[in-house]
Amino acid sequence: MILKELFANFAILTSLIFLYTQLIKTPLNRSSKLKHKIHAGIVAGISSDILMFYSINIGDTIFDLRHVPLILVAFYGGITPITIALLFFIVGRLMIGFSFASYIAIGYILTVSVITLLLSSKVKMSLQMKIAIILTANNVLLSVMAVFLVESKESLYLLLPTYWVASYSAGVLAFYMLVYLRKTKLLLDKYKLESTTDGLTGLNNVRKFDEVFNTLANNVGQKEEKLSLLYIDIDFFKHINDTYGHGDGDIVLKELGALLSSSTRSFDIVSRNGGEEFSVILLDCSLERANEISERIRKNVEQFPFTLSSGEEINITVSIGVASYPETTNDVSVLIEEADKALYQAKRSGRNRVCMNYEVNQLPILTSV
Ligand code: GH3
Ligand code: MG
Ligand code: MG
Repeated sequence: MILKELFANFAILTSLIFLYTQLIKTPLNRSSKLKHKIHAGIVAGISSDILMFYSINIGDTIFDLRHVPLILVAFYGGITPITIALLFFIVGRLMIGFSFASYIAIGYILTVSVITLLLSSKVKMSLQMKIAIILTANNVLLSVMAVFLVESKESLYLLLPTYWVASYSAGVLAFYMLVYLRKTKLLLDKYKLESTTDGLTGLNNVRKFDEVFNTLANNVGQKEEKLSLLYIDIDFFKHINDTYGHGDGDIVLKELGALLSSSTRSFDIVSRNGGEEFSVILLDCSLERANEISERIRKNVEQFPFTLSSGEEINITVSIGVASYPETTNDVSVLIEEADKALYQAKRSGRNRVCMNYEVNQLPILTSV
């Protein structure tokens, strides 16, 4: 009977842990946002109440796995979430009954929480060791409490060994589950980020660029907004690689990425479309404004001292092609093609310049240098 109820408790516990890890965006830790810590505290508190609701009654005293969610939240989240969880736990325990047993039970859980908090912070010890100490402390405290509160010695002989086994296995499995689920979640987030981010510059990669551009292109037609696109290519970049090496070439690409981000508005979308080619999507931006921004970028790059690994500073230039909907084209789907053509014109007509294709049949308008 006791075993059956503890097993039910364990099943509830693992389901709650699984549900919680699926619902949250990032795993809980000491530097999580306050909102996240409050959520975790509430979930842990309610979980311990649910576990208490399914507990085993022996006289006035109840036994269950309520300590596990509280230990987990104290261990990973620290003082804020465990305080909130304890409030829920205390209310839940007192709702079951105001008795000497309930006050003792509250004292026992408070002690286990404090031990967990102490062990989870600065103590240098393996995770396994910490888990073993926390669970042993919990089991010892509960056993002492049970010896005082349970009158029937027969019940005690049956309860205590079962409780120790259940508490150890549930605690270890809960930690194992959480560590595993946290690791999976972090890896998934990392892969998601890497699939849309350029590893060298931290900008959007071409896949993300395509995704964002297609979404914006769809919206723009519906909202009658403007949309401008800049294609940016480093001039004679091969020469930089040949002269200073590929490593320094990478440094230049990285610095250019940062310079492009700082030369545009926070809501503009800067991407590295491949090699030494970048793009900027300018939201709700006219051709005239796009041209001003391009010119600013061109000048910023021309004047920026790119610092190589040796400390040597070099200057580079970029060519920029501008296309703007609905000014250079009234078909948003050819904006990329237009920007590419304009970039080609900028290269052909001397580099280090901004160029825009007004009409296919019209000569490109050149600006600068
Ligand atoms: P242009 O002015 O016509 O654009 O000349 P360019 O030399 O910049 O153009 P080209 O297409 O001939 O060469 C581009 C070079 O960019 C060749 C390639 O080695 C280099 N490159 C592409 N990707 C990377 C990268 O990730 N890191 C480094 N360091 N170089 C790269
Ligand atoms: Mg180039
Ligand atoms: Mg190129």
